[in-house]
Amino acid sequence: MTSITKLPINQLNGVGPKKLAKLQALQIHTVADILNLKPNRYENRSQLTHIADAPIGKLISVKGIVKSIRVIKGRNWKKRLEITIEDTTSSIKGVWFNQPYLKEQFKRGQTIIFSGKISNYKGLQISSPDFEIIDTEADNMPNRYASTGRVVAIYPLCQGLNQNFLRKLADQALTKFSTSIKTILTQDIHTPSSINNRLTAIENLHFPKTIDEAENARLYLAFEEFFLFQIAILTQKQKNKKQNSNAFICNQKIDARIKRLFTFSFTDAQNRVIEEIKQDMLKPKPMIRLVQGDVGSGKTAVAIYTMLVAVANKSQACIMAPTEILAKQHEQTIKTLLKHSSVKTVLIVGSLTTKEKTKALQQIASGEANIIIGTHALVQEKVTFDNLGLAVIDEQHKFGVLQRNTLVTKGKHTKLLLMSATPIPRSMALTIYGDLDISIIDQLPPGRKNIITKQIPKQSRHKAYQFIRTKLQEGQQAYCVYPLVEESEKLDLKSATEMANLFATEIFPEFTIALLHGKLDGATKNRIMQSFNDGKIQILVSTVVIEVGVNVPNANIMLIEEAQRFGLAQIHQLRGRIGRGSQEAHCLLMAGETSQSTRKRLAVLTSTNDGFKISEADLQIRGPGEFMGTKQHGIPTFNYGDVLSDFTLMSDARLQAQILLSADAELINYKKIKIASQKYQDLIIGA
Ligand code: ADP
Ligand code: MG
Repeated sequence: MTSITKLPINQLNGVGPKKLAKLQALQIHTVADILNLKPNRYENRSQLTHIADAPIGKLISVKGIVKSIRVIKGRNWKKRLEITIEDTTSSIKGVWFNQPYLKEQFKRGQTIIFSGKISNYKGLQISSPDFEIIDTEADNMPNRYASTGRVVAIYPLCQGLNQNFLRKLADQALTKFSTSIKTILTQDIHTPSSINNRLTAIENLHFPKTIDEAENARLYLAFEEFFLFQIAILTQKQKNKKQNSNAFICNQKIDARIKRLFTFSFTDAQNRVIEEIKQDMLKPKPMIRLVQGDVGSGKTAVAIYTMLVAVANKSQACIMAPTEILAKQHEQTIKTLLKHSSVKTVLIVGSLTTKEKTKALQQIASGEANIIIGTHALVQEKVTFDNLGLAVIDEQHKFGVLQRNTLVTKGKHTKLLLMSATPIPRSMALTIYGDLDISIIDQLPPGRKNIITKQIPKQSRHKAYQFIRTKLQEGQQAYCVYPLVEESEKLDLKSATEMANLFATEIFPEFTIALLHGKLDGATKNRIMQSFNDGKIQILVSTVVIEVGVNVPNANIMLIEEAQRFGLAQIHQLRGRIGRGSQEAHCLLMAGETSQSTRKRLAVLTSTNDGFKISEADLQIRGPGEFMGTKQHGIPTFNYGDVLSDFTLMSDARLQAQILLSADAELINYKKIKIASQKYQDLIIGA
């Protein structure tokens, strides 16, 4: 029988081409995917409240029949949709503003459940309630997918799919394929859940009798994936230990020759990290080392040093950066440093012409190129190295594990150096990154200006503009950043574009303004950056493409819009672009929404410039940018568990995995675990 992980979802009844497309939009492709679909939350509908008994101000669910559907034009052209439902005791309105399109879904006579907080405003109402249109026929049958009379799982949705459909689909999958749901964890592994088999866990995930049962199911499944992940990490660690690599020579002569190239002397922290890296280079063992250091702490210099050690050993070295702007900047830095030397550098990025690319590829393959600088263009199949001894990955969290691994396997015994400006605590790093060593640059080069960061209330926007104007008149330059969230890329671009126009025409008509965003082609981006660099542009309005690696010492003002939407670490990285010159630097945080919690979160940034402290706060507080937070730190994401909020579960899983492997290192008696853990290989950074 085909495994359910390979069985297309349209093998289930009721999934035609239209529904299939919608399911795929939710990343549900197979029968296993629907079984593993984690509900967003649960609602206890075992006892619905009668409308007349519903307490004001409390979160409740009521069921009734639709009596009227009205769209009312209010002031300011706002449209209000009102749906009134009625049960045997009373009636209540569901009210939505400016979503007239919702109307299409409702019909008089339908049975609906509203969930939300009841208020009494010209009669009982719930504003923007969660709602579910009830399939009364299904509910009158005794089945577990009824939408009332029990605890109900609420799934993530997309337009065109409703709760009922997903629920029935989960039920169908469970009924038809229950025998394919195999328990992976053997009974000798102590899960923190009271459940001891996968089938029960999946059943209770979708159709729990109590909320407790649902949480226990999630706990079982989260533990399972963490455990398998830890097995993958620990087996990889065993493998790494057995592997051999090249030993490089790094003697004093080489050290002196390299250090002479730099116009500054390294900080103590840089020197310490270089020593740690050298110890790895000297050994005939693979190197996987992560260098964590705040923005501006001088990681690039350390990377260049390390690359030059590899080159001195007649190896090639490469550095991969997440954006073309950054790659080019690295190229510039390296070329300037090496202008009197015979070391040959080559750039490989997407925007090269075919001719340039052919030449670069040939130089890389022949070994003529010693240092190769590039973007992810480096991991393309066409790129072959003569002898890649060292790979550096800058801003490592911006890359997938697969890209990292592909790069390393382009050499025979390539040593790997990862760089990150968003540190995570060491104990956590060891648990979730896998088998890597960590070095920390905990000191900034001398002469760095402090960045003065302030939160600007929305009503003081014009004061902020006035402040910026004064600074521009003094000859400084400014960034205005519109952080970009992937899901709403279009929206952000629109906002950034509007902002740039508004600046150019109304607010700062006397200055030159340019807009930089990710959708521009490489040549245009570079031209704009160059003009900004040359001081021809005073205000650079930008999405987060500038986040990494722009270095314009005369730009010391940064205005960040919609600051509340982002992780603290990300804002900290952004502001690391300023304070690089001799002027005092100012970072102004403008938040579109200013709740107390937002203000408190952003206050971390106004109170400290220490990247490690900010990073820790980021991981602890995790505001609306929760996902951003994890992504920004390169923390792997799982289906059931959350590395941060379930960290003790992860530690427990690690302990259990260690116990199992110490008893059976090859997993000879645990074939199922061995196979299942392979899927998690792709999440390991230090592999
Ligand atoms: P990071 O990559 O850690 O954010 P960079 O390597 O880009 O930081 O360094 C930021 C700036 O500091 C660069 O202009 C670099 O030349 C300079 N720099 C690095 N190390 C030192 C040092 N030891 N002394 C003075 N300046 C330094
Ligand atoms: Mg850097």
